[in-house]
Amino acid sequence: MADSWLLRDGMDRERMLDMDKRIQPLRTAALGVLGVTLAFGIPWMGVRTIGALLIAVVVAGVFFKIAASKTDVVDKPEYVLFAGWAGSELLIAICIVITGGATSPALAWMAIPVVTLSARFSTRGVVVGVVTTLVLLIAAICSRNFDTVIDNPMYAGASLATVISVAILSTALMRSDVEHRTEAVIDPLTGLLNRTALRNRTIELSQRSAYTAEPVGVIVADIDHFKRINDRHGHSVGDAVLKDIAYVMRKELRAFDLAYRIGGEEFLVLLPGANSEEAKEFADELHKVLGAAPRGGQNVTMSFGVSASRYGDIFDYDRIFEYADAALYLAKNSGRDQVRVADEEKSVAGAGGGFARHASRAN
Ligand code: GH3
Ligand code: MG
Ligand code: MG
Repeated sequence: MADSWLLRDGMDRERMLDMDKRIQPLRTAALGVLGVTLAFGIPWMGVRTIGALLIAVVVAGVFFKIAASKTDVVDKPEYVLFAGWAGSELLIAICIVITGGATSPALAWMAIPVVTLSARFSTRGVVVGVVTTLVLLIAAICSRNFDTVIDNPMYAGASLATVISVAILSTALMRSDVEHRTEAVIDPLTGLLNRTALRNRTIELSQRSAYTAEPVGVIVADIDHFKRINDRHGHSVGDAVLKDIAYVMRKELRAFDLAYRIGGEEFLVLLPGANSEEAKEFADELHKVLGAAPRGGQNVTMSFGVSASRYGDIFDYDRIFEYADAALYLAKNSGRDQVRVADEEKSVAGAGGGFARHASRAN
């Protein structure tokens, strides 16, 4: 997945989607608070004005719902989220125009969506968002009774300052949170994504497969006799082997978000769009490259299990993983250091007995 001007890399994208999921229920709560506050204002501001504001709040809610529902089916969800974000600022600006421009009580509301900018986008995205907000705010303030603004520039100045201050503070807070959140989806030893990230990604891929009908290939890879390396040379040598193997895997893959460390010395590769044969080809390539030189100073081999969903099928990760894992089990039992492709018929029988996960992989 290529980078975009809103995000630096796949890591940012993972984080953005994760953050957006967390924001969703709270966003509804925040909109609810605004709505209730507005309803209390009817005696002072009249049903028409308040009605217009309430409609804006509801439309903003719908905007976000639509944007959130599209993030799973498009290539660059950041653009959808940014469009939803900009739409809500535009609505607030329209509200300000309706409720009196420079003297509107809704002026400070422009700062609310700004809080969510830094939670989701890169610094560039935050800057573009803040500039958009300021332009809309100035336009809304100046849209009516321009004389008021000239008489007392504080009307404009105070709300512009609010937007900028909120952006600065929320960005600083968010940057510190980002560091912790990054740790939540990244394996610190190898720098690969972990199971949490894998879970998010597979949910997204299965939702996408309903639209694209494309298969998704899964490769499960496990280092052979890794325990021996630890036993003979120590844990730190084992760690060096893991790091080196992860590095090679990441280099072989085109995108950041496709290789995962799912266990001690177990890795998983997701190949969106790859059928069983294509996934096997890639696993063969990995097998060849990884075995071509010592890793972390040690001669190690790896076993691979491959499976893929079929074209037109919805990607059922748990099932495909079960097949790939059964194939890995087969590779281990057939002498290790090889790639095996899942035989679906046999895997179904085997998976029913839970043999892939629970049986020991003894020689
Ligand atoms: P097999 O070929 O059947 O896969 O044998 P194996 O020895 O690789 O598999 P086993 O599951 O028996 O042992 C895996 C070992 O991986 C055991 C554990 O000590 C080691 N391990 C797990 N996580 C780490 C880690 O982060 N660093 C190091 N150095 N070792 C680890
Ligand atoms: Mg192993
Ligand atoms: Mg293992």
